[in-house]
Amino acid sequence: MQYRPLGNTGLSVSSLGFGAMRLPEDPDYAVKVMQRSLDLGVNLIDTAPGYCQENSERLVGRALAGRREPVVVSTKYRATTNSTKDLRHSLETSLKDLGVNQIDIFNFWGVRWQMFEEIIRDGPLAAARRAQSEGLFKHLGFSFHDSPEALENLINTGEFKTMIVQYNLLDRSNEKALTLARQKGMGVMVMGPVGGGRLTAPSDRIRTLVSGGFHTTPEAALRFVLANPHVSTALSGMNTLLMVEENVQHASYPEPLTQEQRKQIDELLTDLARLAELYCTGCGYCLPCEQDVNIPEVFRLANLVRVWDLKEHAVGQYANLGQEGARTPGRGATACSQCGACEERCPQDIQIIEQLKEAHRLLTATNGVL
Ligand code: SF4
Ligand code: SF4
Repeated sequence: MQYRPLGNTGLSVSSLGFGAMRLPEDPDYAVKVMQRSLDLGVNLIDTAPGYCQENSERLVGRALAGRREPVVVSTKYRATTNSTKDLRHSLETSLKDLGVNQIDIFNFWGVRWQMFEEIIRDGPLAAARRAQSEGLFKHLGFSFHDSPEALENLINTGEFKTMIVQYNLLDRSNEKALTLARQKGMGVMVMGPVGGGRLTAPSDRIRTLVSGGFHTTPEAALRFVLANPHVSTALSGMNTLLMVEENVQHASYPEPLTQEQRKQIDELLTDLARLAELYCTGCGYCLPCEQDVNIPEVFRLANLVRVWDLKEHAVGQYANLGQEGARTPGRGATACSQCGACEERCPQDIQIIEQLKEAHRLLTATNGVL
């Protein structure tokens, strides 16, 4: 295992962190998987009160119980009002469930810039500082879901020591902000290093991004993230003992990619991203669709096949579109009534009706036609 400074916090963290967001359903096995990762050198676990039907913190607490070596614990608080009581209550519950006297990293959860300006700054921030001065947690951070510009704004407030942000082979939009965070002395924890599961599916194109290649797509994904010197740790949600062992191995390279490989990968990724944008930029101006076709999503999935060779993942996701309980809203290409309204709104002049048919062919194993 490799260790890196978590910004200027004084903490040294394993380059692979454990993301306890989707733990195995069997609680005993979940604890076993976390403990195995700790045995193999992982020393940071990130959790939140709401993860795993509100069981994650308690399971993390079980995994930590009785361990002698220190583990950096990161948890979160979702500020929905500027009530300071909520924060205190949430923090105290986290401490109890985790079975610790002090949390290492306490994060405002899923922060957007507007949320920071309208809610957090007016109450929860001061409440957090009070709790910190009483020693209930060491460092204040945030996890983030907004635009790269909003991320830079948050970094520039100077209020936070760490941040948890999305960054992976398929989404490099926060790359500039990672550099800024590092310049400001912040620790950077990356969530979704395997693209929310997309990069766990096989892709020969990704596996062979560098000369010599990688053994698997997840290996390529993890080593890409860790090759960025501004990343302190990559948080991976690990469900099996095998996944732990493989990820620990991928995170154990002193130099995850050589300078030459980084250059090579950077050029190829820039070309592939440009190619993806030729098909559809994902701007969403074509919506709404009278038949509720999720046009950008259908094209995004088609791009995963065309550009990234992630067919297995994309086909599975496409089959879910329009199904009851599907996480992504909207319907697939077959719902299109060919009214043509979307084509008039597309700034890329994409022949949406024809491209939907093509996307459907790509995304259905049977090559079905509309
Ligand atoms: S052409 Fe099809 S996809 Fe476009 S708005 Fe009409 S129904 Fe929706
Ligand atoms: S308007 Fe065009 S480029 Fe934008 S999401 Fe729709 S199809 Fe893609």
